[in-house]
Amino acid sequence: HMPTAELQALDAAHHIHPFSHQAELAEKGARVITRADGIYLTDSEGETILDGMAGLWCVNIGYGRKELADVAARQMTELPYYNSFFQTTHVPVIALSQRLADLAPGDLNHVFYAGSGSEANDTNIRMVRTYWAEKGKPTKTTIISRKNAYHGSTVGAASLGGMAGMHAQGGIPIPDIHHIDQPNWWAEGGDATPEDFGLERAQQLEQAILELGEDKVAAFIAEPVQGAGGVIVAPDSYWPEIQRICDKYEILLIADEVICGFGRTGNWFGSQTLGIRPDIMTVAKGLSSGYMPIGASIVSDEIAEVIGNCEFNHGYTYSGHPVACAVALENLRLLEEEGIVDRAGREIAPYLKEKWEGLLDHPLVGEAKIVGLMGSVALTPDKASRAAFASDPGTIGYICRDRCFANNLVMRHVGDRMIICPPLVITKAEVDLLIERARKSLDETLEK
Ligand code: PLP
Repeated sequence: HMPTAELQALDAAHHIHPFSHQAELAEKGARVITRADGIYLTDSEGETILDGMAGLWCVNIGYGRKELADVAARQMTELPYYNSFFQTTHVPVIALSQRLADLAPGDLNHVFYAGSGSEANDTNIRMVRTYWAEKGKPTKTTIISRKNAYHGSTVGAASLGGMAGMHAQGGIPIPDIHHIDQPNWWAEGGDATPEDFGLERAQQLEQAILELGEDKVAAFIAEPVQGAGGVIVAPDSYWPEIQRICDKYEILLIADEVICGFGRTGNWFGSQTLGIRPDIMTVAKGLSSGYMPIGASIVSDEIAEVIGNCEFNHGYTYSGHPVACAVALENLRLLEEEGIVDRAGREIAPYLKEKWEGLLDHPLVGEAKIVGLMGSVALTPDKASRAAFASDPGTIGYICRDRCFANNLVMRHVGDRMIICPPLVITKAEVDLLIERARKSLDETLEK
């Protein structure tokens, strides 16, 4: 019940915000979010904000689902914590593992748990190296990733990621991680057609394998649709070529489904939407719709069998946390039984695509991309040449993001790209409202 200004002052005094410039934020005052329901947030001033980002790309089921709170309360009463490190297990972890094995494509039937997507990607680094060592190929340690990818913030996951701003701080990447270029045709495609460019970027994987040596490369990791890098949708030629190369050189393919999983791209997993056959999938976020922190690596029969023949010396105190597992299981039940994933893919995705692509008539919008319920627009001063703004990259995106927030819409900016990723429960009327506020914010950005 404190006034907003007092809360903001306390926040600035004691809370270090992730991915934020503390001093700038303290000056502005962070907006204090107090409640949420459906796709709307409420702040301490009583304003209602349309959350076009599902929190951090995670609240797939929408806010305020009491069923999830009830399951958490029941599980906390019955068994609030136990682990599965040595000789024990528990019902929530057994049930969730079975469910994930059913949902995951192909023979991805085995689950190793973590507390987040970052931790799950750290698991992947250690797991693929252990896998190859156990198969008698201990030199296969290098993991190939992509520039501008985001795989998390731990030292390992941030090394896999290709965010230049992160690599500039704190001594990353760690050794044996190699980055190839991203398939961002709008920014980097030059005069090539999208299809030729997609092929060229995929073939960089083959060149890297040949340069580094087949006997050195353990795996390739990528997001089916690059999320935090700007919702970069690869040209159609890209993924079939990546799959061909991974098959040819027996490189493990890790699909980082932390954003793309659980209905985001119109199917349960982005790999299904894009026709990829991963050996490992990283999941988190939508797994519990963000209601509890949980992540996991879902791996193939072959990988589980090989690492099953040694003691894999890896695990987190909260691996398979019973409350998080119980909440995730209930979240998956609701997403399926209420037809939320199905409806998002079949009804909302085509509607949103039409409206989102309608923004192309705005003078600032040069490219509009969308897969399922994750989309981006590239802002440009000149659509024909796909030019970037003369100002520092991100200046115009930053202005647009602020205008959106002032208009009670959460949209994220990545450089000068604007991003949406709303909860899957968004209705068509709410899509209209989102687009209306986005357009107004674009108009105000243009004016500025
Ligand atoms: N992988 C991807 C593709 C992500 O987008 C993220 C987070 O945004 C992560 C991994 C890291 O997940 P977490 O923040 O749960 O550690």
